[in-house]
Amino acid sequence: MSAHPDHPTRPPATIVIVGAGPRATGLIERIAANAPELYGDGTPLALHLVDPHPPGGGRIWRPDQSPLLWMNSMAEDVTIFTDESVEREGPLRPGPSLAEWARQVREADLPPELAAEAAALTGQSFATRRLQGAYLRWAYERSVAALPPGTTVHEHRDRAVRVTGPRDGRQQVWLEGRTAPLTADAVVLALGHLDAEPDAEQRALAAFAAEHGLVHLPPEFTADSDLSGLRPGEPVIVRGLGLAFVDLVVLLTEGRGGRYERAPGGELVYRPSGREPVLYTGSRRGVPYHAKIGYSLSGERPPVPRFFGPAQVDALLSRPERPDFRRDVWPLIAKELGFAHYHRLFTVHPERTAGEWPAFEEKYAACPPGSPELDALVTAAVPDPADRLDLDALDHPLAGLRFPTEEALQQGLRAHIEADLARRHDPAHSPDLAVFLALLSVYGQLIRLGDIGGWWHGFFSFLASGPPGPRLEQLLALSRAGVIRFLGAETVVTTDPLRGVFRAGSASVPGHVVEARALVEARLPEPTVDHSRDTLLRSLHRDGAAATPAGLLAVSPADARILDRAGRPHPRRFALGPHTDARASGAFARPRTNAPAFRQNDATARALLRCLRDLSCRASLTA
Ligand SMILES: Cc1cc2nc3c(=O)[nH]c(=O)nc-3n(C[C@H](O)[C@H](O)[C@H](O)COP(=O)(O)OP(=O)(O)OC[C@H]3O[C@@H](n4cnc5c(N)ncnc54)[C@H](O)[C@@H]3O)c2cc1C
Repeated sequence: MSAHPDHPTRPPATIVIVGAGPRATGLIERIAANAPELYGDGTPLALHLVDPHPPGGGRIWRPDQSPLLWMNSMAEDVTIFTDESVEREGPLRPGPSLAEWARQVREADLPPELAAEAAALTGQSFATRRLQGAYLRWAYERSVAALPPGTTVHEHRDRAVRVTGPRDGRQQVWLEGRTAPLTADAVVLALGHLDAEPDAEQRALAAFAAEHGLVHLPPEFTADSDLSGLRPGEPVIVRGLGLAFVDLVVLLTEGRGGRYERAPGGELVYRPSGREPVLYTGSRRGVPYHAKIGYSLSGERPPVPRFFGPAQVDALLSRPERPDFRRDVWPLIAKELGFAHYHRLFTVHPERTAGEWPAFEEKYAACPPGSPELDALVTAAVPDPADRLDLDALDHPLAGLRFPTEEALQQGLRAHIEADLARRHDPAHSPDLAVFLALLSVYGQLIRLGDIGGWWHGFFSFLASGPPGPRLEQLLALSRAGVIRFLGAETVVTTDPLRGVFRAGSASVPGHVVEARALVEARLPEPTVDHSRDTLLRSLHRDGAAATPAGLLAVSPADARILDRAGRPHPRRFALGPHTDARASGAFARPRTNAPAFRQNDATARALLRCLRDLSCRASLTA
């Protein structure tokens, strides 16, 4: 790296960011915002971005993907820019949400198909991933342009495989296929969602498939999967009913030439192309994720945090032993969600309650979480059981239900999805929206507790991160057309070596089993630092970085510095995003929600800039 022309004698201070997706984009925005205050000594800055995919959107939001794949967030709920709600030390630099950007962007700045989509986009639309990629690219370019004058930005379309260097000196970032490393004063890993090595079960299934000439697709990013082995008309067992399932369905139906039409009565009808396989699909819950809520909040926001806020997290952290999620944390979360639900019910739908909110609130506050007193209070004050929040029932929607035939299950599942769609678009059920907002609040608080295990993330996604309503309408049409057949709850997949096929059955239709020559695991990989396919992450762990019990990279809550096994924060290495235990919400920040990812980005950007400014760190620049 040569010295900057304005400062011929001083080499630039160098940051290497590995991973150039949304998280890196948000961090660069914060580096630019904080630099005038924290990095004003005139030494030029060099920023190196390493990612095989284009910066801005990175891998998931890259331009070269099917236009049929959508976001599952409404355009007004996605932003890359901070607002006044964000608790931060750095300055506010407002910017448009995806929906606002789509209104402002000039047609000429987009490819024709994206220009048409942007022009038609409303706040409640679900944009294509490609349009979101264009927004992220624009946000990236704007953030780069806001970096201090003289900053140089270098994009490396490469994969980083290793970081080396002493704790107190410059770091080397090694790129695949390159002999010379990048040298950095500080390194940030914004690696995002990573591929995983198959676990023992997946290895056994793959071996079975290889032995019998079957198709087995392990958990992976559906957009990257080779679906050509899933043949027209043939049964495919699909495990998973979340967002990876929705992507799979889209690519195997419209992606293979099928079309939707409106029947005269308004019902959506699927016209197959004949090239679709038949998808036998199940999961533990047996139902698709809840539809995204299709109306906006009116009136007061739920006054949370109340029962699970900073004070409760402080108390949990001050205990000598690590809090147990089920025993110590979940009761507080359940009470918080219930509070949001009943606050909304009492204040907006008082005719469905017995009594006044202040009296209920006082008693609710006094009842221990999960106690019989709390149940009794709710039963007395909320006459209709449908208006009570039952988190267990939500988590086990088909519990105890048995269907006499497979066809009866199809009808039952369609009725379930229709009821969910109707409810999620009906403001009479606005306590659901209050619970959703409380879930976001809880998510923000949980960051300080670090890794709290997988169940919560699954439950959160099931309730709060489901597909757009129109996607569920399509699933209904596909079910009516026979392209999707639901398997039911507690789906079990086995292998039959005698017949050389996969088999699947469920608790919902006792005795019913399907056979197929193809099995798709429709869920995202869940890599641990040990079992990630990412060489960089694995080598980092081998070289001493700490991992949490669930296999996430451990970072300091204050500024996302990577921790070693003694708990010491690395002075020059940082990590942000889903592969760390400070993963915030897995989703994009929503405007005006004090988004945890923004708080982290601000704190990390400031720590980075201080690190570069700091003499002990900078002394080695001349070494
Ligand atoms: C399929 C999918 C759909 C999603 N849809 C939504 C949605 O609709 N709404 C929402 O709110 N959230 C959504 N999310 C969640 C979240 O908002 C996004 O995943 C977001 O992309 C996370 O940003 P990130 O930068 O942390 O990670 P990523 O987007 O995964 O970006 C990380 C980048 O790091 C690069 N990288 C990784 N390892 C290396 C390496 N060793 N060397 C170089 N580069 C490397 C990757 O190529 C990638 O570009 C979705 C997630 C997924 C997986």
